[in-house]
Order: sequence, then structure tokens, then C-alpha cells
Amino acid sequence: MRKKIVAGNWKMNTTLAEGQALASEIIHMVEDETDRSVQVVLIPPFTHLYPINKLIGSLRKKHIYLGAQDCSAHEKGAYTGEVSAAMLQSVGVDYVIVGHSERREYHAENHALLAQKARRVLEHGMQLIFCCGEPLSVREAGNYLEYVEAQLRESLFELEADLWEHIVIAYEPVWAIGTGKTATPEQAQEVHAYIRSLIAERYDKALAHEVSILYGGSCKPENAAELFAQADIDGGLIGGASLKSRSFVDIIKACQ
Ligand code: PEP
Repeated sequence: MRKKIVAGNWKMNTTLAEGQALASEIIHMVEDETDRSVQVVLIPPFTHLYPINKLIGSLRKKHIYLGAQDCSAHEKGAYTGEVSAAMLQSVGVDYVIVGHSERREYHAENHALLAQKARRVLEHGMQLIFCCGEPLSVREAGNYLEYVEAQLRESLFELEADLWEHIVIAYEPVWAIGTGKTATPEQAQEVHAYIRSLIAERYDKALAHEVSILYGGSCKPENAAELFAQADIDGGLIGGASLKSRSFVDIIKACQ
């Protein structure tokens, strides 16, 4: 069954104490205020994963999960500063983001590298959140569907069909990330529907129907409900608004 998911990407924010406080607040508010029909994923920095895993505890089996922001393409070895999929799995990570636009842009991550990272995540039994989305120049030139198509084809379409039950796609137009400029519900829906049609064409329609496709890019309580009401938008990957418990939980409630 296609899942509703709201994931909070904290990026490089919060000290450990701040992160633990934020996670505790979110967990309590989700417990008290939501109907638990939405899978909530907390995606703190690597240093906070182990303690926040403890805070989430047994709620994971129900509706609150732990995510990591990236993982190495390598299995193990002399790769100073990298964190492997096996390491993430060993501290209780359920979901891993691969292909966030900030990794693509600031760390020159290309399609081939992202394909390796995706494979590592899936080999270790975790769920993949694969990000795609076009920069402003591509949106303005009008060829954004082709751009997103290449991102998916080059990094994911070699994967076997049975792995797709562990894959979530996040469409995040780069021009909307952290800019306060949100895609309109119609703009987002157009790309989400296109992504689903590509998966249907490459695999099959039933499989494509089950894949959760999240929207990301300046999503906030004021615009979340409209976005989530679209037929092919199954939740959100939230950056800035996930750092405030009130706004993050209001976005989760808008997804119920
Ligand atoms: C993101 O970086 O994944 C994101 C969606 O950020 P923001 O919500 O701050 O635009």
C-alpha cells in the first residue's frame, strides 16, 4: 500500500542537546495530536542518530522512523569522513536520503555515484528516499520533465522491480528549496504524475501506483494541505520547517 510520509531533513543544524530536545518535542506532539496515519521520519545529522534512535524506541514499529541524510557509495575501507550503509543500519536507521540537491551541487555527486549509493542503502535493508528536481534555469527553459527523467533513469532504473517497495521518491525543485518559493500544487502534481508514469513504463502500473512520491521545497503549514491534496503527492520532505516542532507537526497533520 502506498504510504503517506512526512520526513524532516534537519541538514547541518542543531547540537546534540538541541536535536534531542527537538526530537522529544516532535515525538510527544505526534503522539498527542495526530492520528498516526502518516509515517514520520526524523532525519538528524549523523552524530545524533544513535541517541535519537533511543528516543524513538518502539514507536518506530508504528509510525515514527529514523533517517540519515546521505551514505557512502563504498562498503567500507579507507574513505576518511564517510559513513557506510552498514554503519547506518547498525545504529537503527530506517530511511536514507540519496541525491539531495545540496549533495549534487556542493559535492558534485553524479548519476553514477548516486546509483551506487542507492544500491548500498537497499542492500542493507533500509528504505531509500531518492531526491530529484530541476534548477531554475531548467524550469525556465521548459525542459524540466526531461531533466527529472534523466535523474531517475540514470540512477534508479537499473534496480530490480522487487526493490521498489523500499524506494520513496522526493521531487524537490531546486528553485524552491530554502527560497520561500514553493511550487504551486499544479506544478508539483504535473511532475509527480510524470514520475509515476515513468516508473509504470519502466516497470509496471501496479508497482508505480504503490510508490510514495514526496514533494519538497519551502513546504510549510500554510501550503502543505493544498500540496498533499494532489493525486500523486503522498507527503513531504521538509527542510526549514522541520526544525520547529509546531510547524513540522502541523505539516504532518495536513497530510493525515
Ligand atoms: C530540503 O532541503 O529537502 C527542503 C525541502 O528544504 P526546505 O523545506 O527548507 O525548502
